[in-house]
Amino acid sequence: MPVQKTKRDFPLDRIRNIGIIAHIDAGKTTTTERILFYTGRSYKIGNIDEGTTVTDWMEQERERGITIVSAAVTTFWTVKSGLFEGTETRINLIDTPGHVDFTAEVERSLRVLDGAVIVLDSSSGVQSQTETVWRQANKYSVPLIAFANKMDVVGADFAATIQSARDRLGANAVAYNLPMGKENDFKGVVDLLTEKAIIWEGDPSTPLGTSDTGAKFTEVAIPADMVDQVKEAREKLVEEISGTDDVLMEKYLAAEEISIDELKKALRKAVIDNKIVPVLAGSSLRNKGVQPMLDSVVEYLPSPQDIGQVSGQNPQTGEMVIRKADPLAPLSALAFKIQVDPHVGKLTYIRVYSGTLKSGSYVYNSTKQIKERVGRLLLMHANDREEIEEAYAGEIVAAVGLKDTITGDTLCDEIAPIILESISFPDPVISLAIEPKTKSDQEKLGYALQRLAEEDPTFRIKSDPETAQTIIAGMGELQLEILVERMRREFKVDANVGQPQVAYKETITKMAEGEGKYIRQTGGRGQYGHCLLRIEPLPRGQGREFVSEITGGAIPREFISPIEKGVIEKEDTGILAGYPLTDIKVAVYDGSFHDVDSSEVAFKIAASLGLSEAAKKADMILLEPIMKVEVTTPDEFMGDIIGDLSSKRAQILGSEKRGNYTIINALVPLAEMHGYATALRSMSQGRAGYYMEADHYEPVPAQITAKIVESSGFTGRVEH
Ligand code: GDP
Repeated sequence: MPVQKTKRDFPLDRIRNIGIIAHIDAGKTTTTERILFYTGRSYKIGNIDEGTTVTDWMEQERERGITIVSAAVTTFWTVKSGLFEGTETRINLIDTPGHVDFTAEVERSLRVLDGAVIVLDSSSGVQSQTETVWRQANKYSVPLIAFANKMDVVGADFAATIQSARDRLGANAVAYNLPMGKENDFKGVVDLLTEKAIIWEGDPSTPLGTSDTGAKFTEVAIPADMVDQVKEAREKLVEEISGTDDVLMEKYLAAEEISIDELKKALRKAVIDNKIVPVLAGSSLRNKGVQPMLDSVVEYLPSPQDIGQVSGQNPQTGEMVIRKADPLAPLSALAFKIQVDPHVGKLTYIRVYSGTLKSGSYVYNSTKQIKERVGRLLLMHANDREEIEEAYAGEIVAAVGLKDTITGDTLCDEIAPIILESISFPDPVISLAIEPKTKSDQEKLGYALQRLAEEDPTFRIKSDPETAQTIIAGMGELQLEILVERMRREFKVDANVGQPQVAYKETITKMAEGEGKYIRQTGGRGQYGHCLLRIEPLPRGQGREFVSEITGGAIPREFISPIEKGVIEKEDTGILAGYPLTDIKVAVYDGSFHDVDSSEVAFKIAASLGLSEAAKKADMILLEPIMKVEVTTPDEFMGDIIGDLSSKRAQILGSEKRGNYTIINALVPLAEMHGYATALRSMSQGRAGYYMEADHYEPVPAQITAKIVESSGFTGRVEH
């Protein structure tokens, strides 16, 4: 009998596709590194250079100490006791970026995860960006467990961290274990369900890979002074778990014994249903608490089987269709990351939702409506790659050889097409002009930008027809800086880079009408386009709308679409100061035509003229991005920082005290935040930090608008 060449070596319930999400500096990188260290099959002691982390292999990321690329790494973990006792589980760890400039990357990775570990900083609790990632996780109903990291840091407070998760995130966060000691005396944890205490030994300051890593732990008796505290916390946990399960609730109320297995099963269900977030204490840096967290990943976070199915749209009929997480079902898979690997070239990371993806086969890219050949399929381990023949429903793989597939595309069977829910990305708020230095740079520039845009859909490229410059736009200065650096480094493109520019938008404040006429009739075939447009403001954030109210044939049908094109082009170019128009509805309601001279071009031009005329009568204004800013500072600098923010047109929302620090929350126009990192450093002797993200758009004050309009060179520009 022929040997079956490939088989599913891990049943679906022994797979966890998880991510680590966190506020920057909470310890996501360190925690990820520890996980890979404990789980990786081939991640040997001594192989790791200090300062190198596996998921952070890009040179730049290491320098900046932040993770900007979400790679997926396959690891294995065996739980020694409990629900999944003794069987190896495959954990696919999808790295999520920590910096908020890359929230689209966070969203994209959340889309393909089944569960996540949210790393909290026990010394500062829940911070603003934690709220952001939490909201994003909620949007996709990602089940979570929380890891209260940095228990060894001065000011660490486990109970306060849980409380802040409850208060600020509205999460049903409950202690799953308790820390033994804190700050310098943090030694280990007590598991509340099993009532077992463990401590970690070894020199906690020893870096990984050099000698004793402190990975070993020993079971000890619960310290006498913690017995009551453990009892109380266990009671609370059992009560919360019972509250989610009718059978357990009855037993609980009748004061009957509930077995640990029963509690674990119910907790597993409660976590998967987003009803409870168990919180575990630890210190990644000191190698404490990581293994129990991994046990919880296996025991409480869902497998693809628990998720069950994915829904999408049939591109032919528009109907909703469902695919079961079954290797025999038709293929459906989502490309969630493109990455250039230094050894094998371009890798496309794919989550397979249903069916089986085979190496060497053809698949259908339903987003682009093209066929693509899958070359090799790879499982990416911490420090090597494993070639596989097939990837089954529920798994995450990297494919080599896909040419045109980009982030967000669906791959499927051509005979059973499906488009998986697309990922929505925010509009960019900041842009930069770049000019290649030489002719050869010019040629490489386009290619480089194209590649970078494939990886990051929040990154947009356009060319400015006025100046022939290339403009790149994104979600923050840091994101653009990194992209420019990567362009230099990876693609060897030398370019002059302009100052970051705020992405203003233009809009109107009242209804107006305009007439657009483009008539040239001097000898030969002429031009004739004529239309009447009405514009009106739409509520903030609605974008644009175009309608035709032509019914009586004043303008023949075939010219309506050129009119729409003319309108859109003008809306893109801008009228007041060269920024795109938004929140506007345009209706074409009348016009005229000429049998011979009318053409698509003539109507397009007429529409653009008509829109300009209408807009100028509609009291145009500029909108600017307003950032949500959170500054964390030692108390002594608070006055200066608030004073400075006030001079930046900030609206101070309030401040909160957290340990020795104060957190100031404010809304500040992005235009005022240029160079803030440096300013804040000098105001606080380098001790304050800040974080910001785009919140909404608001009208720019009149005097400032006047200045922007003036410097844009758009005022009084002659329109034909
Ligand atoms: P990320 O920005 O969330 O990826 O955070 P990192 O893992 O880079 O950690 C940020 C800083 O906190 C680094 O200096 C780490 O060494 C430090 N750090 C991380 N975990 C711990 C911890 O458990 N205890 C202490 N004391 N420091 C930690």
